[in-house]
Amino acid sequence: MSVKEILLLGNPKLYEVCKPVNKEEIEEVKSIIEDLHDTLMDFRKKYNAGRAIAAPQIGYMKRVIYMNIDKPIVFINPVLDILSAEMFELWDDCMSFPDILVKVKRHKRCHISYKDLDWHNQSLQFENELSELIQHEVDHLNGILAISRAIDGKSFALRSQKEFLK
Ligand SMILES: [Zn+2]
Repeated sequence: MSVKEILLLGNPKLYEVCKPVNKEEIEEVKSIIEDLHDTLMDFRKKYNAGRAIAAPQIGYMKRVIYMNIDKPIVFINPVLDILSAEMFELWDDCMSFPDILVKVKRHKRCHISYKDLDWHNQSLQFENELSELIQHEVDHLNGILAISRAIDGKSFALRSQKEFLK
């Protein structure tokens, strides 16, 4: 367990599609989760932001997401099986480009199915900001960055210019 380097925008690995986890790999995934936890907490200390991280952001190219808001949740092989037709717009950010904000459109509600660390089937429903967050993280597993979802050519801003955004 250790703080890993976060891959940054420009690193081609961030555009790769991640492979599903096999049940036999669960012990390996458990140690990756410790790294994801340490890396997320380190980022949070530095930037006072960061609620979830996808495994490919530390170079582990498997379908694993680690979220830690009130409590830790591990999503293995997550599938967004229901996405609301209703969308909303917001300024998104990412640990792989911490100084840039991107305006994107996301589904207002979503339902996600996944395996937990005991290889049990689980599912959760999210709305609003958390719906956005989990869509952002699943995108990482498919090699899609928030940058690629920018609504238009004016959907980019430096974090330092946040006061101009609405
Ligand atoms: Zn991200």
